[in-house]
Amino acid sequence: MLKLVVIALSFVVLVGCSASPQGVLADATKAMGAENLKSVEYSATGFSYALGQSPNPNAPWPKFNVKSYTRAVNFEAPASRQTLVRTQFENPPHGGGNQPIVGENSATVVVTGSSPWAAQSDIWITPHGFLKGAAANNATLASQTVDGKQYNVLTFMAQGKYKVNGYVNADNVIEKVETWVDNPVLGDMAVETTYSDYKDFGGVKFPTKIMQTQGGYPVLDLTVNEAKANTEVKIEAPAPAAATVKSEKVADGVYFITGGTHNSVAVEFSDHIAVVEGPQSEARSVAVIAEVKKLIPGKPIKYLINTHHHFDHSGGIRTFVAEGATLVTNEINKPYYEKTFGMPRTLAPDKMGSKAAMIEALADKKVLTDGKRTVELHLVQGSAHNDGIIMAYLPKERILVEADLFTPPATPTTPRLNPPSPFATNLAENVQRLKLDYQTILPLHGRKSNRAEFMKWIGRG
Ligand SMILES: [Zn+2]
Repeated sequence: MLKLVVIALSFVVLVGCSASPQGVLADATKAMGAENLKSVEYSATGFSYALGQSPNPNAPWPKFNVKSYTRAVNFEAPASRQTLVRTQFENPPHGGGNQPIVGENSATVVVTGSSPWAAQSDIWITPHGFLKGAAANNATLASQTVDGKQYNVLTFMAQGKYKVNGYVNADNVIEKVETWVDNPVLGDMAVETTYSDYKDFGGVKFPTKIMQTQGGYPVLDLTVNEAKANTEVKIEAPAPAAATVKSEKVADGVYFITGGTHNSVAVEFSDHIAVVEGPQSEARSVAVIAEVKKLIPGKPIKYLINTHHHFDHSGGIRTFVAEGATLVTNEINKPYYEKTFGMPRTLAPDKMGSKAAMIEALADKKVLTDGKRTVELHLVQGSAHNDGIIMAYLPKERILVEADLFTPPATPTTPRLNPPSPFATNLAENVQRLKLDYQTILPLHGRKSNRAEFMKWIGRG
């Protein structure tokens, strides 16, 4: 009996010794051919999904075909360049993310070691990038069983703050990497990437299946067709985009706030201000709020009107809540914001913190008025862009404010889409149904426009 106990104890000790973080890391580095790996380039096809662009707050992110995906990562710089060429998948179009894509849509993203973690993490969650990060940051080791399968889980803290877990399987390859990034809407957002069907590409093992979820829904589903190691990868760091705020007086007490990719509109009432849209981020909202206070001094921002829940249009709403504004939005968004406002934000605490939000939800219509100034808010019924999207209408000033349904082309001479976007034709039908008499359009992307240009754009002018 005593002998058995002794044998059992030595077995435990032996397992403990062989599985050190350094040992697991060395085995994985060797098995994956990462020892002398300086760069990797790979290409893939498959599907992508636009984070934060779902047709309603309860739906997954909308899907796109990935005609081509090319990625170069220089681990020494460090830097990464990714080019994604997408085509329309949803038919008919449903949700955001630049739908409907006519032909194809190409976007290149460059990140470097000085990019914010939410972008830069994309380098450290690649299988080989993870091994480099683990080696440089004193990774720790734990054993974990997932669905009956045993993994050695290496964990490191990037920049002493951001946790990254890599799951090493029995073949000593990285099967999954998980981390958390700060997202203006979802707070500490989980990013989980699984790697499978590893193949040998000139001595380097690289996965041929890559699946990624962000915020609980898929964002990438790729089949890798080629990978090359240690090619010369030169990546130019992009010039940082300077966020500026500009404004234009459109009518007495009505200001169009531009100067970036997203606009807002400020409306002055007798003893307060209403702002349409708090887009993008806290940084943008801080700048917009400063501009509004300069334009309309001495009055509080009482209402922040949120056109729809897409993250690029709702990323800055918390800053307005922190400022004391009541959030006005469609009723489908109220439970969603009540949930997301309470999500943990340890990675990037913001001005709102745990402050309670006042939310006024509307179904089809709500009127803000002080007797002199009137702003009507209407649900755009049947919009394929978003189920709860609202537009603002100022009857006296004959101004229509809308997001994502009609974005005027950069120049008036740009040829119109044929057939026109269903989002735009649906907007026209709603405006007609409600008999809104407008002349000026203040789109929340792009430049100021008008009724005549809109009608021409949809082939009715
Ligand atoms: Zn949108």
